[in-house]
Amino acid sequence: MIYLDHAATTKPCREAFYAMLPFLSDQYANPSALYDFAREPEHILDEARVTIAGILDCEPDEIYFTGGGTESDNWILKGTVLKRYLEGRPAHIITTVLEHPAIKKTCEYLKKFGCKVTYLPVDSRGLIRLEELKRAISKDTVIISVMTANNEIGTIQPIERIGEIADEYGILFHTDAVQAFGHIPISVKKWGIDALSASAHKFGGPKGTGFLYLKKKWQIPPLLNGGHQEQSLRAGTENVPGIAGMCEAAKIAGTEMKNRENYERMLRNYMIHLVLRDIPDCRLNGALEPRLPGNCNFCFRGVDAGALLNLLDDAGICASAGSACSSKNPEPSEVLTSIGLTDEEAYSCIRFTLDYQNTREDVEQTVKVLKNSVRELRRTSENYS
Ligand SMILES: *Cc1c(COP(=O)(O)O)cnc(C)c1O
Repeated sequence: MIYLDHAATTKPCREAFYAMLPFLSDQYANPSALYDFAREPEHILDEARVTIAGILDCEPDEIYFTGGGTESDNWILKGTVLKRYLEGRPAHIITTVLEHPAIKKTCEYLKKFGCKVTYLPVDSRGLIRLEELKRAISKDTVIISVMTANNEIGTIQPIERIGEIADEYGILFHTDAVQAFGHIPISVKKWGIDALSASAHKFGGPKGTGFLYLKKKWQIPPLLNGGHQEQSLRAGTENVPGIAGMCEAAKIAGTEMKNRENYERMLRNYMIHLVLRDIPDCRLNGALEPRLPGNCNFCFRGVDAGALLNLLDDAGICASAGSACSSKNPEPSEVLTSIGLTDEEAYSCIRFTLDYQNTREDVEQTVKVLKNSVRELRRTSENYS
């Protein structure tokens, strides 16, 4: 098998797996308990907070553990809007057309409660325009939420500039960094980020675990009411095994980041080179830079992406059309149409997301299969001549 779908999820690293084991068996104490037996689980929560804070350049008590990226995104949007409503004032969200459904669907939901939402458009590279962001800001704007890096085409937004603008207007700046955390360097201090979502399974940790970073000067209402966990903002006994796995994965992602980034970019560029050289009528979606090191996304004119994915699957190659979340969705990817592709073109696109465990042989084998499959599908296609 050749796995080229790391934006959908990553293989939990061995170290994360072993870090979880004690907390799935003998170290089962509730971390809130007062006896000695609970100190090890309690300690791993502290260690995870310190580790993540070190990578993000923030304070450990600004990290709140959650059940993943979707939960963190929901919390920050619903929390900021609810807080504004509790003050008896209207709310306005500024976000982008590129966002993950965890942001987009939450914004659509909040509209039902009277919240206004502006979706900033993007250019052909997938980048927002800063003047348009500034123009969208109103007295009601409670939050600017712009993803650090896109899950489909890998575009990395000018986060530091957005942070400056948000700061200038005194608006909370949130970024969905689920694709970026552990893969590219992020400094919440330097980049002026007030809130950030991340998810362990996108950086070598277990599924169902993530965190929200929230700068201390901002307060949002609790996501879950109950016990005193997570400073009483996200109650419920912590997912200790998951957090232990996330801690270990974050540690390794932090120390290996530079090496992995360079290697992935090299491998990704090799793949782009081979695909564009060997397959006619094919395009890279989005710009080469600024782009996540492991992401490439191609449009194969006249080819049905679903049919192509099946042929790749038959050859043991895992890739994805659009995003994993929309692969069962008959609508064309909004990310692809927002960078200027027609609906028909959007149905002809495949995403490959590599990581440090992939090899040149993986890439060469994939391009070989891709070349034959594309030729075969075009031979029998009515949409290609
Ligand atoms: C995967 C992903 C999410 C959702 O994260 P989960 O932990 O799977 O809920 C949110 N945003 C982006 C950009 C993602 O890639």
